[in-house]
Amino acid sequence: MNLPRINLVVIGHKDHGKSTLIGRLLYDSNAIPEQKLQEVEAELKKAGDEGFRFAFLLDTLEEERRGGLTIDIMQTPFKSKKHLYTIIDCPGHREFIKKMFTGASQADAALLVVSAKEGIQDQTKQHAFLIRTLGIEQLIVAVNKMDEANYEAARFKEICNELLPILNSLDYRVPAIVPLSALKGENVFNRTQKMPWYRGSSLIETLDRTVRSSASPIDKPLRACVQDVYKLESKKVVVCKILTGILEEGEIVNFDPSGEEGLVTGIEMFGKEIERAGPGDSVGLIVNKLREAKRGEVVSYPQNRAKVVRSFVAEMVLFSNIEVRNGDVLIIRCGTAENKCKVQKILERIDPINLTVNAKSPEVLKSGDVGKILFSPLQPMCIEKYSEFPELGRFVVEGKRGTAAAGIVLETHAAGAE
Ligand code: GDP
Repeated sequence: MNLPRINLVVIGHKDHGKSTLIGRLLYDSNAIPEQKLQEVEAELKKAGDEGFRFAFLLDTLEEERRGGLTIDIMQTPFKSKKHLYTIIDCPGHREFIKKMFTGASQADAALLVVSAKEGIQDQTKQHAFLIRTLGIEQLIVAVNKMDEANYEAARFKEICNELLPILNSLDYRVPAIVPLSALKGENVFNRTQKMPWYRGSSLIETLDRTVRSSASPIDKPLRACVQDVYKLESKKVVVCKILTGILEEGEIVNFDPSGEEGLVTGIEMFGKEIERAGPGDSVGLIVNKLREAKRGEVVSYPQNRAKVVRSFVAEMVLFSNIEVRNGDVLIIRCGTAENKCKVQKILERIDPINLTVNAKSPEVLKSGDVGKILFSPLQPMCIEKYSEFPELGRFVVEGKRGTAAAGIVLETHAAGAE
């Protein structure tokens, strides 16, 4: 049976137990490859200790994080009764921000880990803020290290009372909060006897009950990014990657921002002729009467056409060695397009720790800042709202030494409209 897939991003302050919890989920769900388990068994024989098996697994995970070994255990999917979960692991805080904003992976839900020992800290709030900004609507909280708090109800309540107003302010209304110990395996896969005051379900039962996989991109309007255009005898072949929707032979499509229109007379994938293609497919389109379409353009149908924008508002996070001021021109990469965009106005600087606007219309944004900016492209450009088309609603800013910033689009203002 094919279980629905869920991509789960695990977030929270450093040392609150994210890797331990991931290890526990993989271990208790029997997701670890046979070969790895045999290594564990061998070590276990030497030590003769039940606790050791799990500790050994954690050591292996730790090594993989540091060394980036070829078998990426952290990415091993694990099964529950209802879902196939894949963890999006973000070992460090910087990696987290980069991975999420550059769209290396698309999360359906987030699991926020808070240590009962240390309590709520800066990255707890900061990560919650970032996932909200990224439009991740499903959030589950694990209050970890309950063993270090003597499994006491009072400490759990205290954390809930501090956390709930923060999450509510981010519009996470009634998030499920589960007390557990990742290290001891209490209330992760198996329910615990240690917290009789807790009447809710274990973490995995809670995930199964509350999380849903995101709507399939197949049901959305067509958007595809042109990667290349070449001539084959008398025909033009447009190589493009489909992001959302279905592309069908015999349909009229638009290419924007050039504004061209053409009839799709053939679709090829891996050298074979096909009639239709969907999200994730890279295809060659044979389109008649095409003159100018080139790399960077967006393919859509006339009835729901890609937007060419006059300006757009984005939330942007600056990584390193970059400062942004009003009037600066940045090189923005979105889909396969690269465009120069002017910083029309820096609207706000946002404090991602206290979750407040800490400056209106600031002069400058610096490395590490998060800001809201009004951009205007210097050439015609297609870009979409992140909430509608995530793939065309996020962008990175190219600096002299690679990616300098990344952002997501909150609002677009169509060209020609007031
Ligand atoms: P990460 O930085 O969030 O990935 O945190 P780690 O998983 O590396 O854990 C940090 C430390 O907390 C390690 O020493 C873990 O052994 C410890 N730890 C994690 N979970 C628990 C738990 O449930 N109980 C206790 N007592 N310690 C834990």
